[in-house]
Amino acid sequence: MRIPLIVGNWKMNLTGAEVKTLLTELKSVLDNSASVDIGVCPSFPFLSLASDILVGTNIKLGAQNMSWEVSGAFTGEVSPVQLRDAGCSFVILGHSERRHIFNESNDCINKKVKRALEESLNVILCVGETLKERENGSTEQVVKTQLEGGLKDVNVEDVDNITIAYEPVWAIGTGKTATPAMAQEVHAFIRNWLGSAYGRSAADEMRIQYGGSMKPENCEALLQQSDIDGGLIGGASLHAGKFSQIISTASGINEE
Ligand code: PEP
Repeated sequence: MRIPLIVGNWKMNLTGAEVKTLLTELKSVLDNSASVDIGVCPSFPFLSLASDILVGTNIKLGAQNMSWEVSGAFTGEVSPVQLRDAGCSFVILGHSERRHIFNESNDCINKKVKRALEESLNVILCVGETLKERENGSTEQVVKTQLEGGLKDVNVEDVDNITIAYEPVWAIGTGKTATPAMAQEVHAFIRNWLGSAYGRSAADEMRIQYGGSMKPENCEALLQQSDIDGGLIGGASLHAGKFSQIISTASGINEE
């Protein structure tokens, strides 16, 4: 059975004091026994602070990006070794804001995926189509290209350290959500693609999260879909109450 994975992507939000407040609130509202895996991704400067606050909880720490290099003269970059040192166990790669605002290519994302795995960081690999691509009927082709590119030369032994996040770009931070049926259709396509690349049993074990304006009001119907195994959550993860409501909904569905 796939345990749902609920991750908060805080993006370039919150000061150190706000990180402290949000994590303290989260710790007080979250039930450590929830049958859900939970993660949060603060900005780089607050990873160590968050790591200290999270000691003794079941909340995992992740980063929002990283370099494909391990160390050296790469001004402004942050390496996977530094992320692990700061307490991270996973990293989000290929987020649509990295692809579309910072022009990250599938090649660049693939180098990062391979390096993260080599350096023992789990990966959330984001894929998803723009509104234009959905409207011209190329959603599956776009997602397939992103999977093929992002996972090039990644072996089956490594895929249990990878989660795929399907995030339709038109639904991120816009308040628009894919309907549960629309999301399920793409998730099933992704699982089929994973099956053809890595075999049915590896594909059945891999988690595929949905991301794009997930919130307490719409998460239940999404999380009930057979191929949706959690959420990557931006806006709603900045509120302890909303984030914990999504976690308890996921936990309730998992226990059904
Ligand atoms: C995201 O940042 O990955 C995301 C899904 O954001 P939001 O929930 O705000 O749409």
